[in-house]
Amino acid sequence: MPDAGTATLAVPHAIDLAAPRGRVYRSIVETVGGTPLVALPRLTMLDDIRATVLLKLEFFNPLGSVKDRIGVAMLARAEDEGRITRGRTVLVEPTSGNTGIALAFAAAALGYRLVVTMPENASIERRKMLRLMDVQIELTPAKLGMAGAIRRAQDLLDSLPDAWMPAQFDNPSNPLIHAETTAEEIWTDTAGAVDLVVAGLGTGGTASGIAHRLCPRKEGFAVWGVEPLESAILNGDEPGPHGIQGIGPGFCPATLDRSALAGVLAVSEREAIAASRRCARVEGIPIGISSGAALHAALTLAAQPEHEGKTIVAIVPSFAERYLSTSLFNGLA
Ligand code: PMP
Repeated sequence: MPDAGTATLAVPHAIDLAAPRGRVYRSIVETVGGTPLVALPRLTMLDDIRATVLLKLEFFNPLGSVKDRIGVAMLARAEDEGRITRGRTVLVEPTSGNTGIALAFAAAALGYRLVVTMPENASIERRKMLRLMDVQIELTPAKLGMAGAIRRAQDLLDSLPDAWMPAQFDNPSNPLIHAETTAEEIWTDTAGAVDLVVAGLGTGGTASGIAHRLCPRKEGFAVWGVEPLESAILNGDEPGPHGIQGIGPGFCPATLDRSALAGVLAVSEREAIAASRRCARVEGIPIGISSGAALHAALTLAAQPEHEGKTIVAIVPSFAERYLSTSLFNGLA
């Protein structure tokens, strides 16, 4: 196996840090999107991969995850449709994940109060980030799981005079914003060379939106979904507990168009964490656990002979640091 430390790498050595990039934005919400595609020169050389593998680094979004796109998009569309009013409507969403943080910054920036319901065992980092942005948190019994949080959110919605639930698992703005932005960015940045996109399936909004926009545009283009092996319901298994936060909700959401996907790969928590750690060590890109799952799946597809010479984009939803209290960091203290 070649040694990435000594072999000549296809890494650019002339790096222009003074190149202009950016401008003045009117609000933090305008900084969402436009995330970079980054190659993996050392990993692909070490694995002798003959496809181009690019990571779309969604942790470049302002609050650090792919969910920032839908956090802003769901509110913007609801405003356009006259469903919510700044300074008056209270937003209510059951979420223990990145969607809460995304809605929190969008709500604060646009002038909405937000109530998030979540099981009491949600990580303390998450809760503190939400409190920092003045979100009201309603904790529900851990033993009821997300179902308890959903019920509490519904009760609040029924009891408050002007409340609205973005409902990420049902809201068509979710896949739509990925068609309009994530897909178009991938297409433009690869100058149409993209052949495959690999994305973890949480709500399925990312994968479905990209598939809807790019499948009709290019013959042979395909999107592959990724689900946890421990809860591989799209591959016919039973739902179960797993450690890949953000994907594998245990049901098939309305926002997931299974028929738009070429297939769904099942990746274990162990494989996901191994890929995530390797990406940090070998490429200097510390990615989250579901990102590791997508990378593992992308490298699996890239190693198949029929994908030689193809361009494969894996969606990296979040940064490693958001998982400090999880098994991603076990043994690293
Ligand atoms: N990974 C992480 C860390 C996430 O927060 C999400 C969003 N829940 C996903 C993957 C999956 O994205 P989507 O909901 O668009 O399927």
